[in-house]
Amino acid sequence: MDMTDVNSTKIKINRPVASWLDYEFLMEEQKPVRSLTVILRTAGCQWRRCRMCGYWHESSAHITQADILAQLDYSLRASPKEDFILKLYTSGSFLDEREISATTRRHIARMLEQPQGKDIKIKKLVIETRPEYVSAAKIDDLLHIGHWHLEVAMGLETADDFIRLHYIDKGFSFADFKNAARLIADCGATVKTYLLLKPPFVSERSALEDVIKSAELVAPFSGVISLNLCNVQRYTPLEELWKRGYYRPPWLWSAVEAIRAIKQKKKHIVVMSDPVGAGHLRGPHNCGYCDTAVKEAIKEFNLTQDLNILEGLNCDCKDKWHTLMRCDEFLFGSTIE
Ligand code: SF4
Ligand SMILES: [Zn+2]
Repeated sequence: MDMTDVNSTKIKINRPVASWLDYEFLMEEQKPVRSLTVILRTAGCQWRRCRMCGYWHESSAHITQADILAQLDYSLRASPKEDFILKLYTSGSFLDEREISATTRRHIARMLEQPQGKDIKIKKLVIETRPEYVSAAKIDDLLHIGHWHLEVAMGLETADDFIRLHYIDKGFSFADFKNAARLIADCGATVKTYLLLKPPFVSERSALEDVIKSAELVAPFSGVISLNLCNVQRYTPLEELWKRGYYRPPWLWSAVEAIRAIKQKKKHIVVMSDPVGAGHLRGPHNCGYCDTAVKEAIKEFNLTQDLNILEGLNCDCKDKWHTLMRCDEFLFGSTIE
């Protein structure tokens, strides 16, 4: 059935926002494994205040729980013909029962037991949620019925409460994240932590230092650290800053440096970064000439976790980036010893 959403564009409420096949590095197997990512359309994130986030555009108040199950059923028809990783996201929190009810959550767990015939199984199920929705009962629903490994992703963005509270407006603390992460671990699942490279109002160098320091602090709680390279989404406060020249998305050199610094110290953790919008003015970018090469190197690193792939990347613009880093250090100092 078609429905008109808040932006007056036609959406199909029994189809997901998007779904696609890919590969993802699996630490247990030390190799990339086939993955299916599904973004279910739900009522959307209840918070809706993070300054860089425009995901609420993908939500609709008209979605029923039956629609969500229909979306999943449709997506699973295209699932891989081999054991795979399923990343089952909403444009909000999977564990928020205003988006996915308890009954639907349990129904989904049953649907995933045999996603496509009895011989194919899900190796890892990944969901995303804000920490306030995490409870042992909800995690249990998604754990014990199936035989997959459950990974719960949370968008902490930074371990710095001041940046998260005042610059991002995330609305929860590092302590909230740690409490939820401990609960998840106690239940037998693991945590994927999203860190944001370059929140608004933070200089390039400070952002790089913040993400490296944050990775150090979240490492004891995380099986995977995913660096989100900030991009400028439409109809967000960040877009207003960007249009007025008060924000530039991170350089891809900063992303490379962050990945290198984090992975060198945390070899037991999967470090990844999906360079969404890389090479575009709204996305992480360098000079325009080297963006594709750096983006492809980051994508290859994601699949192999081999830092050698990031060695030898170069371009004339790297000098500019170094100069920017030195200027930032002169202006704002450095927090990295
Ligand atoms: S970043 Fe996450 S928590 Fe923040 S508004 Fe977007 S969906 Fe909600
Ligand atoms: Zn360049």
